[in-house]
Amino acid sequence: MRYCKQCVQPDTRPKVKFDSRGVCYACKYEEDKARIDWTDREQQLQEIAARAKEKAGKGHDCIIGVSGGKDSTFQALYAREKLGLNCLLVNLAPDGITPWGAHNIENLIQQGFDTMLLRPNPKVWKKTIRHAFYKHGNPVKPTEYPLFAVSYLMALRLGVPLIIQGENPGITLGVTEGLGDDDNALNANLGATLAGGCACDWEVEGLTMKDLVWYDYPDKEELVRAGIRGIYLNYYVREWGFYHNTEFSVKHGLAGRKDHDPETCGRLNPHGSIDSDMQIVNQMLKYYKFGFGFVTDEVCYAIRECRMTRDEAIEQVKRYDGKCGERYISDFCEYIGISVEEFWRVTDGFVNKELFSKDSKTGVWKPRFEVGVDLDEA
Ligand SMILES: [Zn+2]
Repeated sequence: MRYCKQCVQPDTRPKVKFDSRGVCYACKYEEDKARIDWTDREQQLQEIAARAKEKAGKGHDCIIGVSGGKDSTFQALYAREKLGLNCLLVNLAPDGITPWGAHNIENLIQQGFDTMLLRPNPKVWKKTIRHAFYKHGNPVKPTEYPLFAVSYLMALRLGVPLIIQGENPGITLGVTEGLGDDDNALNANLGATLAGGCACDWEVEGLTMKDLVWYDYPDKEELVRAGIRGIYLNYYVREWGFYHNTEFSVKHGLAGRKDHDPETCGRLNPHGSIDSDMQIVNQMLKYYKFGFGFVTDEVCYAIRECRMTRDEAIEQVKRYDGKCGERYISDFCEYIGISVEEFWRVTDGFVNKELFSKDSKTGVWKPRFEVGVDLDEA
């Protein structure tokens, strides 16, 4: 395992790219940002908005898939206030939404938006999650399919010409493969989680394509033929960022997790990904598979914005990365109908044995690596 020389992003992130200096592409983009003509980008964005308005006629100008979280709150308000777009928000509520997640989506809608509230069949949702835990050690994976797909499906069905996505992970995480580092969000299904996946990935446990209508990302050619454009806002807007979006959205009523504790939530920011507790379990699983969890992502953003030194970041990662309170694990087990013992039996199979070794006395997995130090040097 190698780490970026500037932040603490490890090369175990699927598809991440490093340059010849050993710097990750997310850090490289941060350097490139200074050379981008942002006035020109904003002009391009205004032109895209003007074309969408013209095409939409009396209908909605754009669709934004929203959870009510920090990013979607910024997207929706930016699209309306700065671009003058008549937005249709599409919200796909997760099964078992947290109270703060429910608060935040309502907070966003109350700012004055037309919204479609969609609830995918909870029985289907649960079956796909259970399957994904056993097969991939990633219970969140199937939920990403409808979260992405519904904006595109609704744009096609309702004839809305523009879809505004938030960030291109090709840019912010440095995983350009399949995604590129441009504005084109019609490739959103090629990101790391979906990887070009088809809804048929979830024809499991008796489910058929009829159960998976909202999981089925439309054919890109069909979207192009219909004249639908999808863009990433962060390509055009310089201020887009993890911390900026949090601060902006808190000012507009975004609530944080009331039971936030980095020791049990495995993250520092109480305002991120809080609509479902399953994210916490998922980040712990990711930690055991790849040697990093969500705190690594958070501190990398902080380093790039000079909010934290690399040494301070390493301390935070050592303390909190991959942490997950027992309550979140037992809730997850109850949800998919397995015992906690079974959870750990399955999880043990996914642990990366090159990165972790099991303490024979306590049965706890301990990292073989030291955060921030290349493993082959250690
Ligand atoms: Zn980096």
